[in-house]
Amino acid sequence: MSELRQDRTSGGWVIIAPHRGQRPQAAAPARPSGPPPAFDPQCPFCPGHESELPGILAETKAAGEPGWTVRVVPNKYPALQAQTEAPHLAEHVAQAGNGVHEVVIECPRHDAQLDTLSAEERLAVVTAYRDRCQVLFAAPGIETVILFRNHGPSAGASLLHPHAQAIALGMVPPRLAALNEWAKLYHADHGVCAMCEELQIETRHRERVIEETDRFLALVPFAAEHPYEIWIVPLDHHASFIDIEDAALAEFGELLARCLRRLKVVLNDPPYNFAIDSAPKHEFGAAHFHWRLRLVPQVAIWGGFELGGGLPINPSSPEDDAAALRMARIENRVIDARRQPG
Ligand SMILES: [Zn+2]
Ligand SMILES: [Zn+2]
Repeated sequence: MSELRQDRTSGGWVIIAPHRGQRPQAAAPARPSGPPPAFDPQCPFCPGHESELPGILAETKAAGEPGWTVRVVPNKYPALQAQTEAPHLAEHVAQAGNGVHEVVIECPRHDAQLDTLSAEERLAVVTAYRDRCQVLFAAPGIETVILFRNHGPSAGASLLHPHAQAIALGMVPPRLAALNEWAKLYHADHGVCAMCEELQIETRHRERVIEETDRFLALVPFAAEHPYEIWIVPLDHHASFIDIEDAALAEFGELLARCLRRLKVVLNDPPYNFAIDSAPKHEFGAAHFHWRLRLVPQVAIWGGFELGGGLPINPSSPEDDAAALRMARIENRVIDARRQPG
């Protein structure tokens, strides 16, 4: 069981989840290096290891093919879970760590990656991202859903098998609350969505644009907090990722894959995280909130100044980073994710 605790001295909240320290590879010795196997007998996400999963919540199958292409399961070591009993504390403020924590297993094959799936398989993945967000937002008491992906052990991925995660919770976490508050004030002062205005400026100047498609812009933001930080933003105003239409999903998935390939080429397959900022439930349809995906490769490590000031120092130029990503020569390498163990 986890707890949400509030720090009396800052007002900040934290999730205390000690059971997550028991995750399999968190304590396991390092594996031998070399390319990963197509299927790993130790991996609970590989086909045939269903008994190691805490359950199966949803599955996507391809027409005329055996087996599954995408599978959604509960996280075995959830940061939050359904619980109602609040901790009884006389001197501190805390709540039950109530919420949902799911895993989207993106393909059967252990050694594929999001950008090495076929376009058809990737469409099934991003469709599952949206559909799980819809299911979780619809659950009673849920205010926020964060869909995210960790790639590489140093980015927090405890299992190599391609997967993303979704955490749903009853509160609006601090960063999202601040983002929402800022966007609301900006809209009140200027009569326009700040992101819509930013997209107009960036598509005019183009020096930070990586790629533009019919419906999306991939760019390095003007005030990027991290080197090679990438945003993928819908060109039309939509408050929540769950608003993404069927017709836009494939375009979004392919743009995301190309951005991942660009990072691979420019930064030699870096560990990375991405997360989708969607409006909290009480702001669905809001004119001020515009969803985005933020993709951050792990390049620079924040130091004492950032710890002390909460003011990031980005040691690179967003314009130079965008140029390098824009000009990266990327190829489409597909690993057949559907081939099942023989
Ligand atoms: Zn696996
Ligand atoms: Zn907008």
